[in-house]
Amino acid sequence: MPDAFHQKTRYDAILIGAGPTGIAAAYEFKNAGIKYLHLESGRLAQTIFNYPKNVHLFSHRCYLQIGNVHFPGKPHEAPAREEYLDYLGKVVSQQGLKVQLHSAVVELVPGNLNHCVRYRKKDGTITEVYSQNVIFAGGGYYKPRLLGIPGEDMPHVHHYFRTDLPVKNKKVLVVGGRNSAIEASTTLAGQKAEVLLSYRGSRLPRSKIKPWILTPFDEARKSGFIRIHYRTFLRSIKKKQVILRLDETEDIAIDTDVIFLLTGYGPDYSLLKTASVPFHKRTQRPLFNSKTLETKIPGIFLCGTLILTWKGKKASIENTLEHGKIILSNLR
Ligand SMILES: Cc1cc2nc3c(=O)[nH]c(=O)nc-3n(C[C@H](O)[C@H](O)[C@H](O)COP(=O)(O)OP(=O)(O)OC[C@H]3O[C@@H](n4cnc5c(N)ncnc54)[C@H](O)[C@@H]3O)c2cc1C
Repeated sequence: MPDAFHQKTRYDAILIGAGPTGIAAAYEFKNAGIKYLHLESGRLAQTIFNYPKNVHLFSHRCYLQIGNVHFPGKPHEAPAREEYLDYLGKVVSQQGLKVQLHSAVVELVPGNLNHCVRYRKKDGTITEVYSQNVIFAGGGYYKPRLLGIPGEDMPHVHHYFRTDLPVKNKKVLVVGGRNSAIEASTTLAGQKAEVLLSYRGSRLPRSKIKPWILTPFDEARKSGFIRIHYRTFLRSIKKKQVILRLDETEDIAIDTDVIFLLTGYGPDYSLLKTASVPFHKRTQRPLFNSKTLETKIPGIFLCGTLILTWKGKKASIENTLEHGKIILSNLR
């Protein structure tokens, strides 16, 4: 390969993912004068963008602030999706952070000196770039957990809740039993949909649902706007009907117009797996050094909620915003 090619495409660091933690890492790199490339498969903060409109985060503003970029509003209140997206946009523009949007990293090939990153742009072209340091901030809640059932990919089946569908007087099935499913059911009931919630347990895990989400849900349920089918698993989906299996024995056919599968989200580790990053056998999570955030492959780092637990707690935005700083001091 000619030298000019390498000079043009080699960076001190390549950062994958522009969610809150990727943006916070970029903030550190920019301020340290690192020559880095920041790639994002979707739009800025795609995961936050996917939240339902006007929904509130649970983290308070004061814990979401990046560097010295002030987060306006009451510090001990959680921002709404729109306020948080505005704030993240402000961090990027005010600090002059360059993010290459709609550039999905499709392959990571580890090398002795430099790792190779291949990404696909919106027009389908593949570009190859190199760096000794690759930081993966792909998110812990980025990929919907699929049920692996027939019909899951049909157009009336949604894996992210949205409020812009014409659901009035329509039969809407919500699958799940945690915050997202409960909140979505309440919102749909408010939109005058006929809501049916399918949950696999014999009662809702109330202690795991935020109280401010439970209260309006209970009210909507008491008013008859939401019905719950406990101990059911969704088995298959057709255009106007689904099959729910009750108690692992009996199949029930239910008419439905719209379906929300809100069964949780998880990280997409496929990039790391094809790069042969070692994984823990039992937990099936990538192995990394908790002091440096480096994986077993030198120069490949994990950042943000992708690691799922951090310092004995569930990884969240507020406890992983410091990752950029840690990685910065361990770059090769
Ligand atoms: C309604 C709701 C409210 C929530 N409230 C909170 C809260 O208050 N506090 C909290 O901590 N968490 C909250 N969460 C979870 C929250 O979304 C995550 O904690 C947060 O997004 C994690 O930030 P992150 O930067 O680690 O990952 P993400 O925000 O998921 O960012 C990862 C980015 O990487 C990109 N990406 C992934 N793969 C590739 C690739 N191959 N190539 C290029 N780009 C890629 C994605 O497009 C994405 O933009 C909430 C979730 C929901 C649904």
